[in-house]
Amino acid sequence: MKTKLALGNLVVAFCLFLATQLTAQELGPHFKKIKDGIFTYAEKVNDPNCTIILTQDGVVLIDSGNNPPDSLAVMKAIKQLTPQPVRYLINTEPHSDHTTGHFVFSPPALIVAHQGATDSMKKAFNPKRNEKLMAESPEMRETFKGFRLITPHIEYRDKMSLNVGDRSFELYYLKNVHSESDSAIWLPKERVLFTAASVSVKRFNNLREPGAAITWARELRGVSKTLLTPSIVDAVVQKVNQKRITNSKDLRKLRTILRDPVAKAHFIADEGNIESASLRIAATEKKTKLGFVGELDAAVSAMRSMPWTELEKLKGDSELLKTIDDAKTLLDNLRKTLSS
Ligand SMILES: [Zn+2]
Repeated sequence: MKTKLALGNLVVAFCLFLATQLTAQELGPHFKKIKDGIFTYAEKVNDPNCTIILTQDGVVLIDSGNNPPDSLAVMKAIKQLTPQPVRYLINTEPHSDHTTGHFVFSPPALIVAHQGATDSMKKAFNPKRNEKLMAESPEMRETFKGFRLITPHIEYRDKMSLNVGDRSFELYYLKNVHSESDSAIWLPKERVLFTAASVSVKRFNNLREPGAAITWARELRGVSKTLLTPSIVDAVVQKVNQKRITNSKDLRKLRTILRDPVAKAHFIADEGNIESASLRIAATEKKTKLGFVGELDAAVSAMRSMPWTELEKLKGDSELLKTIDDAKTLLDNLRKTLSS
């Protein structure tokens, strides 16, 4: 019995050794090796991905892929990598593009998610999404064979540790990021972090209301194409995701910011915001208008930016009223002189 067990361990160790020798390409298209025994699959950039993590005691998956064809491609790769079963499937979020393929792995896999995922999945489940996909092609229909809605078996609150074989997983609840139950997953030994939908490449991901994305896109399209270089787009996406630009209408200000080299450079920099960049346009304008014109500009902007409370205090101030009358006469005369 003991020798049998030892032999079993040896077989598993050998399989793991072979698995680490496999390259991502040998698993099929769209696989990427992250670390030894960790492979991520995504058909397209920004598609929900699925990650295979091999351990001495079986496979742990992070999400199950965009759709069943993806889940099946992952299942095929797992079979190339190890004879061991998928033991856990950790969900970064409950949306259907992360969970429809659960049935491919579970049972035997136990689904782990943050509290609220089951409710969210049940509420959002729409058989029409699957029917629409199945209508695409007979091949697609085939991949849905055996479909069942598989909701989490384990829901944790705030934080959870999971130890499987030689690997440790730390699950953290991400509040108000994207869905009702977002989880980040950290593998401390391997230093690998799964960020759920809190980070993604060249995409606005913190907009909880999907319709809002159209408004943002429209505003961005209003900015001249020649001004929207890749570094500007990156800066905009980053600042929106960091909630430093919260109103899509603010993007309109980019039309003037990006024409001003100083303001533009400031906006691209890490510390730059729409407001702070706008201030820099004013600063350069002031610098270009020297002498009397500059001073007149300054006086006008001082009048414009006078706070309401300040005005209240000055009500009835006879000296000030006299100064205003003088200024009015002076301005009238000045206008007459300059226009003739
Ligand atoms: Zn989602």
